[in-house]
Amino acid sequence: MGELLKREDQRVEDTWDLTSIFESDEKWEEAYKEVEDRLSEADTFREKGIQSSDDLLEVLEAERDLGVTLSQVYVYSHLKHDQDTSNSKYQSMESRAMSLYTKFASAWSFLTPALMQIDEETLNSYAEEDKLKEFKFDLEKINKQRAHVLSDKEEKLLAQAGLVLNNPGLTYAIFNNADLSFDNAVDSDGNSHVLTQGTYIDLLKSSDRTLRKSAYETLYKKYGEYENTLAQTLSGEVDSHVFTAEARGYKSSRDQALSNNHIPEEVYDQLVDVVNDNLHLLHRYTELRKEMLGLDELTMYDIYTPLVDEDFKVTYEEAKNHVIEGMAPLGEEYQDILREGFNNRWVDIYENKGKRSGAYSSGTYGTNPYILMNWQDNVDNMFTLAHEFGHSVHSYYSRKNQTANQSGYSIFVAEVASTFNEALLADYLYKNLDDDKKKLYLLNEQLEGFRGTVFRQTMFAEFEHKIHTLKESGEPLTADKLNEVYGDLNKKYYGDAVSYDDLISKEWARIPHFYMNYYVYQYATGYSAAATLSEIVLNGTKEDSDRYINEFLKKGSSNYPIEILKNAGVDMTTREPIEKAMKFFEEKLDQFEQLIKNK
Ligand SMILES: [Zn+2]
Repeated sequence: MGELLKREDQRVEDTWDLTSIFESDEKWEEAYKEVEDRLSEADTFREKGIQSSDDLLEVLEAERDLGVTLSQVYVYSHLKHDQDTSNSKYQSMESRAMSLYTKFASAWSFLTPALMQIDEETLNSYAEEDKLKEFKFDLEKINKQRAHVLSDKEEKLLAQAGLVLNNPGLTYAIFNNADLSFDNAVDSDGNSHVLTQGTYIDLLKSSDRTLRKSAYETLYKKYGEYENTLAQTLSGEVDSHVFTAEARGYKSSRDQALSNNHIPEEVYDQLVDVVNDNLHLLHRYTELRKEMLGLDELTMYDIYTPLVDEDFKVTYEEAKNHVIEGMAPLGEEYQDILREGFNNRWVDIYENKGKRSGAYSSGTYGTNPYILMNWQDNVDNMFTLAHEFGHSVHSYYSRKNQTANQSGYSIFVAEVASTFNEALLADYLYKNLDDDKKKLYLLNEQLEGFRGTVFRQTMFAEFEHKIHTLKESGEPLTADKLNEVYGDLNKKYYGDAVSYDDLISKEWARIPHFYMNYYVYQYATGYSAAATLSEIVLNGTKEDSDRYINEFLKKGSSNYPIEILKNAGVDMTTREPIEKAMKFFEEKLDQFEQLIKNK
């Protein structure tokens, strides 16, 4: 392995082209200044008030348009910063852009309350006017919140209480990220390995069982030492959800969390029900794992290690061609967008000193949907590339076909397009590979992806709901209680093939998502939606792929996520998509077992 490149030594064609946002840093400064100078416009609008539909249109457009320029200012600085985080010029540009955002948000914070001041009937009649049609859905959403908006005095009090209510989550984050550290894990040769939140799962994937055991025990024993404190931060977080939901007159904290996106609670319950009805499939997979690893006792630190050892090399050029070819079921136009992205430098491909780690798709209205990669020549990276292009083409279509205020998409659907692309790529590769070992490797990756995204996140969702309902019925969330609930769920999910110890019961303490208020279930629903949609497209006609593109990828947030998905062909209010996803897992498991037998 050579030294990492410096940023300035990257070949230009391997980097993203940000000049299409701002030609130069000087142009960025001009845009920054423009936004700054126009912040005071908000005051003028606030003082003037909204007396007519013309006033309404004017104020909504002003906020939207300034918001677009601001987000371009932010995105440019953010991408420049990420390409080399040690560059102090871009550090400072990004932090200036962030503080400009805060100023903008505060200047325009009058708008929603001002819209609430207009009585419902009047606001509805404005929204019906043709000139306001681009804002009609936004206004409808505001109207729906009315029942949960309190008096001015109470709203002010709640806003001030936010500082206190956020504290449990902030305390946890600081403890988990800054204060908590672990001893090194030790492998079978006595060598030390740095153990952090970031390296933990990689260590659990090691083929060295001594190292896996060491990482697992060291990590959870440490969490165990602080379990009473961490039970208190999690309990405090749940308290804050329960308090806010009660104050705003929701039925429960889950009701509040889901109604933000207009998701019926049945969607959540059905997910948990269907997954529970199919836990025998996860048990079967766990049995198979025990058998393939040749272990007398399968433990929780044997769950992550790959079952197929295969060095599956792919260069960036090869990956690019596979991704384009793999998306053929979506048609020429979709593939042309991919080519446009590859040819016009949407992707920042290789690692360099100081570059942000990992991968993402970013950008905003009026910019290219950029992709950051830290390319390595392997199959995982090829899937990441397909995944990020899934996000990027979704953004591309939505930004081209919706107005700025509706061009984003909600978290509930955010991972659908990306997971969809992974499914298409896997299908393409599977059909085109002649090497059984590579096929096994692919299937293993798919099974693992499914376990981690559908089974595991549903287990999290079940845990999260359980601790909220316990709290709502007045039960204290002590460390013992949390260990008991988590340990029982873990046993139920992984089944009898695993020999359990007490340490895994403490896993709740290391999961930051439990501080995100009913967030995790969306990984499982998103995956299931993608599984259904990709199956429709893979087995369907041009009409089916057009429907996916037109009704889903182009729709942004122009409707409620459940409605958008329904129009695209998947009804998340029924059990069917989750059942189909389970079927998909079963088929992969069958294929996997078959290939092993044939070996
Ligand atoms: Zn993603």
